[in-house]
Amino acid sequence: MQLFDEGLHSGVNLALKVDTVIYEEKTDLQDLVIFENKQFGRVMSLDGAVQTTEKDEFIYHEMFVHVPLLAHGEVSRVLVIGGGDGGAARQLMKHQNTSVTLVDIDRSVIELSRKYMPTVSGGAFDDPRLELVIADGCKFVKETELRWDVIIIDSTDPHGPGEVLYTAEFYGDCKSCLTAGGIIITQNGVPFVQESELRTSYDRLGGLFADVTFYLAAIPSYVGGVMAYGWATDDANHRKVALSKLAERYLESGIATDYYTPEVHQAAFALPLHIQKMLTKEI
Ligand code: SAM
Repeated sequence: MQLFDEGLHSGVNLALKVDTVIYEEKTDLQDLVIFENKQFGRVMSLDGAVQTTEKDEFIYHEMFVHVPLLAHGEVSRVLVIGGGDGGAARQLMKHQNTSVTLVDIDRSVIELSRKYMPTVSGGAFDDPRLELVIADGCKFVKETELRWDVIIIDSTDPHGPGEVLYTAEFYGDCKSCLTAGGIIITQNGVPFVQESELRTSYDRLGGLFADVTFYLAAIPSYVGGVMAYGWATDDANHRKVALSKLAERYLESGIATDYYTPEVHQAAFALPLHIQKMLTKEI
């Protein structure tokens, strides 16, 4: 029996039975494997870390996208850095008045996700509202003159090409690309096994934005407990939207979801004490 053994966090391994290897390739940048697993369906890994699975990606991508867009209320342009599997793009395309620029460094991830895991992107890459750019996200935000209302940093973990997407310099350049009151959301790992990444992002974003926190969701294929999305904006009102208003926006948007609800949106920002302490303790 072949096992996929993810050793992303020292001392902790996630083993998934490999029923069938669908595809594997060392792209110019990353080691990509797509395999079939009875519980999770098709699984994509990059450099030995699970990126997304057919069965639980809806949780991760719905919370990544609908929380900032429904909190903001007037989003028309979204920048996605990373997100080559197309899952965030699929959720974004549900918002009728939204255009998306997706910047991923590795064309192979996009092509192979479309080919072998088509339900994740669900045709988003063919939507005329989506502009695809193959580039290093770090370089892109430094050079662009354009602006976006929400920036979603759907990156790999801070290793390999994804490492630059966790620096203060990158966050500062992202801020320069935001419209007034815009929101940045990061993929910030699993606090229980990635505490230092959580605190580092908190401190770096905190030096740039007035309102910085995290919200949580449990992604079954991300080992170690709930995962954290970094939230950063200068408009603290986005987090004070009444439940009734969120519900109204959700209804008006006409989007269909399987995880996101306005109640889940609000509850996701309630950080348990041990995570609050990670953010405030003396280091
Ligand atoms: N859900 C996953 C997670 O939580 O780790 C992330 C999914 S997505 C596949 C990660 C994407 O980040 C990949 O497609 C990878 O090519 C892209 N990426 C890594 N470094 C990048 C960079 N510097 N600029 C743009 N995209 C990058």
